[in-house]
Amino acid sequence: MSDDRPAAVARKLPGKPRPRKDVIAELEAYDAKVRERHLANNDMDALRLYNFFHSPQPKRITQWRLQLDCGHIVEDYTYGDRLPTEGQWDEPFHRGKLPLGQYWHWHEGDDRPTVEQKVVSWDERVREVPPDPIEPPEHWRDHPEVWAKIRSDLPRAYWKVTLSCGHRSTMLIAVEWSPEDGHSYPEVSAEQVAAAHARLDESQEAGLRDEGIEHGKRWWSEGCPTPDTHTSCNVCPNVRWIVAYQSHGTLVQDRPAKPKKPSRQSVQRKLADAKREAKRLEDQLAAMGDDDD
Ligand SMILES: [Zn+2]
Ligand SMILES: [Zn+2]
Repeated sequence: MSDDRPAAVARKLPGKPRPRKDVIAELEAYDAKVRERHLANNDMDALRLYNFFHSPQPKRITQWRLQLDCGHIVEDYTYGDRLPTEGQWDEPFHRGKLPLGQYWHWHEGDDRPTVEQKVVSWDERVREVPPDPIEPPEHWRDHPEVWAKIRSDLPRAYWKVTLSCGHRSTMLIAVEWSPEDGHSYPEVSAEQVAAAHARLDESQEAGLRDEGIEHGKRWWSEGCPTPDTHTSCNVCPNVRWIVAYQSHGTLVQDRPAKPKKPSRQSVQRKLADAKREAKRLEDQLAAMGDDDD
């Protein structure tokens, strides 16, 4: 989805940045906490690394305000003068990074649906999970018939995957499956697909979520692939594009030294010097008499 990336422009944004001293105070508090922790653990290696690589250096940190495609303006910081669209921002769900130009942003009332995306790579098999128990777990107690339908008889493994939107996700797949196996397709007739679509349309009327229905229809239309070729991305609804940014410079700025205000004493001294010089010139002139005329 990096093709959808809007061009971000540098411009003056409405509002004001946080006062630099507040940001620096926050950084110092954080810095003290990390140091304290390393010292308490007597972990001098970690402290040394921290000093070299992570200890915040306000002189090198640039304060930015970013305007996102929802219209909101947020504040964040980069090291050096790298533009906010030239480095990847963090993504907490999979502890990774977002595609260039995106920013993690969600707030109350921002109810965007999860979006189904194509799986473009199967990156890492992480851990196995045993078959689901026959007895319904706590939150399925009241619906044993639904549990009986959805529970898995087979052990499965979690896979980390990358999606066409550039985000990461995880999927549960049969334990013995590996990416070289590709997808398998059962024999499905056109009638079966049509019947499944009709069933899904009925559930739409029964108030099932649109995303689930779209997902089901797409899966049936593709011929019921295992593992699925798509999965829903829970990162997409939580990110926005950066459309504009304004730099407020580094947190600590070198100001040109102001000229010092002279003291009364030094003015008096200068005046005395000037008077003496004037007197000397007058005397010199007097000594010359009219010789040069
Ligand atoms: Zn917003
Ligand atoms: Zn996504």
